[in-house]
Amino acid sequence: MRTPLVAANWKMNGSREFAEQFFAGLDLGGATAEVAICPPFPYLPLVGEKLKGLGVALGAQNLSRETSGAFTGEVSAEMLQDIGARYAIVGHSERRSLYGESSELVAGKFIAAQAAGLVPILCVGETLEEREEERTLAVIGSQIEAVIDAAGPGIWNRAVVAYEPVWAIGTGKTATPEQAQQVHEFIRGQLGEAGAAVQILYGGSVKSGNAETLFAQPDIDGALVGGASLDAEEFAQICRAA
Ligand code: 13P
Repeated sequence: MRTPLVAANWKMNGSREFAEQFFAGLDLGGATAEVAICPPFPYLPLVGEKLKGLGVALGAQNLSRETSGAFTGEVSAEMLQDIGARYAIVGHSERRSLYGESSELVAGKFIAAQAAGLVPILCVGETLEEREEERTLAVIGSQIEAVIDAAGPGIWNRAVVAYEPVWAIGTGKTATPEQAQQVHEFIRGQLGEAGAAVQILYGGSVKSGNAETLFAQPDIDGALVGGASLDAEEFAQICRAA
């Protein structure tokens, strides 16, 4: 059985004051899912302190594929591991589309994360245009294939996959549970034998009001939550639904 995981992606939001208030209001009582919080880099140590004793894991939103050296502005997997992070999101669609991250670069980041002992959360997803052209599964298949090609097939025992349809991110439009399930089942098939144990999260306008029906699908093992993760009560409700 897979334990569900609910991960908060705060994106470029928050402040020290926000973090103080968020944790003062966070009550995860009744939640049995694994929970992770991915704040912006500067707040990782502060959030890490707050998470101590809560049984909640710390994650980063991005990392470098390099290990160290003259890479101004970059943050390595070892640094993240050093400050207590467990997860690192790689290949978020905002990084792919706004910062030109190729599937090859994403694969490099995935490998770097695993090499340092982090668990990569690999994001995949299609645009609206790709869905309308019925290319959803082909696009997602090639995003996953790029990682398998670079890293080898034995990589899924320490990784999480997040299906985030680009058209559902921050738009209020959620994939229907059936649409999401179809893609999750496809992804699991792509992962080979290890796929049965891999947590596959859904992301894209997840809220307390739609979480339960999404999580009821057999291949949806939790969520990667953006906007709704900035509200402690709302986020806790989503965690409880998983
Ligand atoms: P929203 O939940 O704001 O749609 O964002 C989803 C997301 O991109 C999480 O990584």
